[in-house]
Amino acid sequence: MADARVLPAPERATTATAPEQLLLSLQRAAGNRAVTRYLQRDDDPADAGATAGAGAAPVRQEEDAEAPPDRPASRLAELDEMLDRFNTPEDEVIDLLGAMGPDDKRTVIDSYRDRLVGCLNGGEMLRAVANLHPPLRTALDWIDAAALFTSAIDYSEIQGLVTRADSDEREAVGTNHYRDIFVKVCDNSTMITALVDLDFPWEKARQWAREEGTGTLDLARGLARGGRITVSDMEEFLNAVGEGANVAREHLRGLDDDTLADLRAEPAAGDVIRDELGTAGAPVLSALAGEISSGEAMITNSEDLLAGDTTGPFTLMHFGGDQRFNVTYRRNGVDVAVGVALTAADDRARLLLPAAKNIWLGRIQAAWGSRFQLTNGQRTIPLRFQVSLDAGPNQVNAHSGHWAWPKLNAGNWFVPDHEQVPEQEEAVSQAPVHEFGHLIGNVDEYSRTAEHYVQVTRQPLTSRGTVAETDTAGVTRYTNALSLMGSGTTIEPRHCDAILRWVNQNLRANEPAFSVVA
Ligand SMILES: [Zn+2]
Repeated sequence: MADARVLPAPERATTATAPEQLLLSLQRAAGNRAVTRYLQRDDDPADAGATAGAGAAPVRQEEDAEAPPDRPASRLAELDEMLDRFNTPEDEVIDLLGAMGPDDKRTVIDSYRDRLVGCLNGGEMLRAVANLHPPLRTALDWIDAAALFTSAIDYSEIQGLVTRADSDEREAVGTNHYRDIFVKVCDNSTMITALVDLDFPWEKARQWAREEGTGTLDLARGLARGGRITVSDMEEFLNAVGEGANVAREHLRGLDDDTLADLRAEPAAGDVIRDELGTAGAPVLSALAGEISSGEAMITNSEDLLAGDTTGPFTLMHFGGDQRFNVTYRRNGVDVAVGVALTAADDRARLLLPAAKNIWLGRIQAAWGSRFQLTNGQRTIPLRFQVSLDAGPNQVNAHSGHWAWPKLNAGNWFVPDHEQVPEQEEAVSQAPVHEFGHLIGNVDEYSRTAEHYVQVTRQPLTSRGTVAETDTAGVTRYTNALSLMGSGTTIEPRHCDAILRWVNQNLRANEPAFSVVA
């Protein structure tokens, strides 16, 4: 009711204190008979009883100045009389319940359960509650109590009760007690209809469906068709799940970002994958989470370096090996996981290895992490590195002592040794930053022939930072003095080429290729 204090004083006075106003409006709305009944109501209850014409003693409605003036007289006495008969006239009882006024109905709902359950069977109780309009939970309890076998009732017989109930009433039957009644009444198909009608939150609908034995996929389909799941791609997604994990994953990969985000926000989507596909659903869940592709990249490096001093002829030395890393291309970033299994080659290396790992990990992350992005005109996403020096497919031996080229390489690192080799402490702390570059597929950019130098750096021999050295036989080698993969420290976009190649080989259909940008 509105707060009377906000009403203008004169109007409030008029409506509250002038019965003649009420009579006039009643006359306009309901005619003279209503006015007459209103005027007789308090003075002559016997007249009201006579108009009911049932011969039973009329029971006066409780006094209420605001009640409608033509409110019917109570017919509870009639009901009592019928229920007291040795042979209860069930049809008449049911009809009477429908003819009763709201006060009588409330009384019946509050106090007549046992008497009605005692004389009506399940089918009769269905008709009785349809006439009486009790709260949904009351209707269900009375039907369940009256029916010999609630399971013999079809959902279509109680559907009207459910669809007429308001959201509070429907929420009130969301307990296990009422779930058991619905499970008795419903089959696999009608449980879905019931859950559309009940409009429960997804998780409760899913629990009820599971209790019935109804599949989560079928439930979601029903809720989508019934307008209870309105996310735009739901029906197409469910059809794809019905086709299996591969089709479902491809479907999700192909969605645009916004549609996928909407689908991911709908809790039914993940549950359908889990319940319908089981362990085979793992890659589908990943696709729902935004993964486009994931897998291992294996790079076989092979390079020839012109080794030795310029005081003599260079000697050609060959290096190579397999490097492995995992790439996960997500809609919001590319994650590269590089795992290294370090093995101490001697006792001192074993002693110093834990501290060395921390140093190396920090240096590698500082140099490579959060440096580049991938862009293809549709999306620009960060390139992120997850480095583990505790385990992984790349085997590296950790040595102590002095090192001299080429003993330190992608497969052999030297632990920093502050006490015994302080002059190389910084060099061997930093070297794995370069070696990490090998692990993600790069070759060296020093001591290369002219042809290889241009090939590897994609720069001309005249480019800035290029250093040329010629041996006694007139052979010239080239080193990039700026690049991390040469003799410098700069990490260039080309140093992510192997990662880029993998991503570009695992794009979505019709997706433009990426490039690496700083
Ligand atoms: Zn190297």
